[in-house]
Amino acid sequence: MNLERESLDFDIVFTGAGPANLTAVLHLQHLINQHNAQAEASLDPDIAVLEKGRYTGAHLLSGAILDPSVFDLFLPDFRERECPLEAEVSNESVWFLAGQKKFPIPYLPEPFRNKGCYLVSLSKLGAWLAGEAEAQGITILDSTAAVEPVIESGCVKGIVTDDKGLDKQGVRKPGSEHGMQLNAKVIVVGEGARGSIFRQLDQEFRLQEESRKQIYETGVKEIWKIPENRIKAGEVHHTFGYPLPPSIYGGGWLYALSDTEVSLGFVTSAEPERPVVDPHYNLQLFKLHPFVRKIIERGTVLEYGAKTITSGGYHAMPKLYGPGFLLTGESAGLVNMQRLKGLHLAMHSGVLAAETLFAALLSGDYSANALKDYQKRFETSTAHEEMYRAGNYRQGFEKSLYKGLVQAGLRLKVPGLTLAEKTVSPKENRLQPGRKEYNNWMKGKNAFSPDTSLTFSKSTDLYASGTVHEEDQPCHLLISKEDIAEICTKKCTEEFGNPCQHFCPASVYEIDLDADPILKLTPSNCLHCKTCEIADPYGIITWQPPEGGGGPGYKLS
Ligand code: SF4
Repeated sequence: MNLERESLDFDIVFTGAGPANLTAVLHLQHLINQHNAQAEASLDPDIAVLEKGRYTGAHLLSGAILDPSVFDLFLPDFRERECPLEAEVSNESVWFLAGQKKFPIPYLPEPFRNKGCYLVSLSKLGAWLAGEAEAQGITILDSTAAVEPVIESGCVKGIVTDDKGLDKQGVRKPGSEHGMQLNAKVIVVGEGARGSIFRQLDQEFRLQEESRKQIYETGVKEIWKIPENRIKAGEVHHTFGYPLPPSIYGGGWLYALSDTEVSLGFVTSAEPERPVVDPHYNLQLFKLHPFVRKIIERGTVLEYGAKTITSGGYHAMPKLYGPGFLLTGESAGLVNMQRLKGLHLAMHSGVLAAETLFAALLSGDYSANALKDYQKRFETSTAHEEMYRAGNYRQGFEKSLYKGLVQAGLRLKVPGLTLAEKTVSPKENRLQPGRKEYNNWMKGKNAFSPDTSLTFSKSTDLYASGTVHEEDQPCHLLISKEDIAEICTKKCTEEFGNPCQHFCPASVYEIDLDADPILKLTPSNCLHCKTCEIADPYGIITWQPPEGGGGPGYKLS
């Protein structure tokens, strides 16, 4: 569709108001303020920050443990400024769960320790950072999705935002509005894991050409209010083992945000090679383990949500810049799976992006050569050192939990150790689950019935995510009619039993082989986690942002 769009001119447009971009815009404004206080010629760039959620923080979800050392780089008085820190990490443990038993890991090596770190709600932290930025005069445009980069003559020139008011067929409803074209000298892409702008930039500029394959996990989380005397604020517990078999990577967490509120969640690998998983079901089983049950029973769920985690590590990072753009946070692949953390790295990338942008504002040079400075800044930073030391930690677990543990031990002796990774041939990329294994798994899943006090169905949990979308809008999950006819209802049914019905944590996909249409989508349930685009074994699902303002409404996650 070729539309005459209204356009606005900016110097810098940030796509995504997550911790990386909010840190970037805040630090940039501090640098500008310092400059303007001393220099004769003031800098007054036009800046826009786009957020697809209906408020800042609405789409932000993480465990989360924050390494506060990153604040030294841009906001050392964060405590006095009432940064929302739920609790300082007090004691911590790692457990191997085997069936209904649990075994403590007696010694926690340095990368696994969280002394001096804080438990936070990422949603609250994002809202607080946004408040700090707004106090500096920055405007955050919420309910505004970035849908497409503007690329001219091999250079990014801006962003197109979402159309509003289209019906399911794409026809304009009364009061509809075209998206805008926001022209910019630089766009800063910080969309979290597997963003749609990143995907388009990667197709155009081949940002991962020299990297190893990027991989992902799906994290599913609940916040619980629990009775007193079960746990102490600041306690941190991580688990591995049950309910996963050793062949599937993942594990659980339980963090005491206060004496009566816990963040608990479960991470399951999202792999197109092994798509028959159900991250939500794994979380329900996790809660049934006596270790977790005794802490949360007779409590209530306050919030539910899901997100994917970029977990390929140092060697899977894309190139961090290109003509007219920078990548920050998880768009840049910045998660350290060895420490199970990425928040401080995302914020660190924001600091480095701000310094690069400030230099560009001073020199007036926004060329790819000038933006390359961002990559150089990263390569001499402690964030780089940390990512490098963790190497390809997560890939060590691709074959099995036990091989992964051996490799994890080796890495403690040799930081930065990078081991060979599984290379998947196109044939292997269609790994059929063993029929017996699949049948057993389905048998267990079919027999599972949520008790509605400790365990819940996806639809009950979804209610606690605050998810809303305009129902009458074009479907934001793109699958061609041919693929639905040839793959969804034939090949995929035979080879995998339609895993989209399982891996989506929001029951968006339903296959009814006796109905017409066979594939039923409920896109208004979508949590924007992107698991479907990642774990789809045929690569036929494309996730694009729905109308801005739709999606989850996290407040505590
Ligand atoms: Fe996640 Fe939405 Fe895809 Fe379901 S449809 S897997 S909630 S992105």
